[in-house]
Amino acid sequence: MKVLWAPWRMEYILSDQKEGGCIFCPGDDRHTDGSRLILHVGDLSMVIMNRFPYINGHLLVAPVRHVKGLELLSGEERLDLLTTVTRSIEILKKVMKPEGFNVGLNLGKVAGAGVEEHMHFHVVPRWNGDNNYMTVFGEVRVIPQHIEETYHRLLPHFREVNVVHGGVQ
Ligand SMILES: [Zn+2]
Repeated sequence: MKVLWAPWRMEYILSDQKEGGCIFCPGDDRHTDGSRLILHVGDLSMVIMNRFPYINGHLLVAPVRHVKGLELLSGEERLDLLTTVTRSIEILKKVMKPEGFNVGLNLGKVAGAGVEEHMHFHVVPRWNGDNNYMTVFGEVRVIPQHIEETYHRLLPHFREVNVVHGGVQ
């Protein structure tokens, strides 16, 4: 099977948000987490759903700090970020039962980064035969209900993680 890297190319859609400000900076007002599709904000890392995913369950994992690249993170931040990527994969496995994942970084515009200034990992669940499905999905953009439903399915699992690890909700 051909490995599909298209999720990275779709990232420009992220910049649909016109309100200004960075979609990854959680801010102090946590009341908008639901509408922003934020699943988790820890001390150092956060998880947000891609509003226009290439496939259902497409997550973005970012450091809380607004930085451009891995080299600007402390060792502790890097560890927390990768731990959060790992937890996100575990939760997706449990809830959505994917058969594989694409996990990656786009660093720089030329590499396809839609939000270049705040680095983030893409965690994209994959199923056998999902290629056709994704093409339609990407073009039609019928996803809002789909996304919200998935958000509410995933959220309790991220909350559980927060409680277990003593993080802030
Ligand atoms: Zn930011």
